[in-house]
Amino acid sequence: MKILILGGTTEARALAGALAGRGEFTVTLSLAGRTANPLPQAVPTRIGGFGGVEGLENYLRQEGIEALIDATHPYAAIISANAARVAERAGVPLLALRRPPWTKSEGDQWIEVATMGEAVAALGNVPRRVFLAMGRKEIEPFAAAPEHVYLVRSVDPVDPPLAVPHAIYLTARGPFSEADDRALLTRHKIDVVVAKNSGGDASYGKITAARNLHLPVILLQRPALPDVETVETVEGVVAWLDHAVTSAEARGV
Ligand code: NAP
Repeated sequence: MKILILGGTTEARALAGALAGRGEFTVTLSLAGRTANPLPQAVPTRIGGFGGVEGLENYLRQEGIEALIDATHPYAAIISANAARVAERAGVPLLALRRPPWTKSEGDQWIEVATMGEAVAALGNVPRRVFLAMGRKEIEPFAAAPEHVYLVRSVDPVDPPLAVPHAIYLTARGPFSEADDRALLTRHKIDVVVAKNSGGDASYGKITAARNLHLPVILLQRPALPDVETVETVEGVVAWLDHAVTSAEARGV
């Protein structure tokens, strides 16, 4: 069975690792090409956009893909929508692997917002020290609030830097522990965290650190994602694929 994994997440990489060496599957992992030095993967990788819905559909047909796994990040809404449309059009079975969002625990001071623009507004006008754990594309709206001091952590350098007078940049790849994030927030005297509700463990450290330091978190709500069959774990995907292979064998395909 020829499988395409749409990746760019820890889970997609783990899934590739789980399927590598399984003789009944031929797996390709697709990355958007956002990070300059992606981690090595256990299966062959292709990098770069497909060229929208039509490009992805052509790719599936040309490569004879028989199952599509959308293991992209929960905020990667465009590629997930494209995958859903293409799967339906091309009649290719699609399964989404999505981390459940974090839910509020006692002590969390979350301010949930729908857009980064709202996150900027939620900072208010009094200068604050703000932790932004996100990349260049997402932090752009904060240039509209130059009165704050920003600590920006991203996988790749922020280039060009944000057009604000006070910003500190860190490049780092998760996972990040609660202890490390708490030390970071304390060292930089951060008084508010801005984050996406990514779910999973790798970036939860800043959420628990903020809780323990009694800091507010401005949390960007998840985008709307297509309503497709979904599992929450790598094991769930493997079980779905195993079932698909068994059913195909039973049908004599
Ligand atoms: P997006 O807004 O949903 O997608 C924008 C375009 O990027 C898509 O239309 C597609 O181009 C291309 N693309 C996205 N994922 C791709 C993939 N796995 N393989 C090939 N092309 C892909 O996505 P995004 O938010 O920019 O995220 C890009 C990548 O970073 C994704 O792989 C995602 O899993 C990963 N990531 C995103 C976030 C986040 O917060 N958004 C966080 C961590 C990792 P075409 O239309 O040309 O096909």
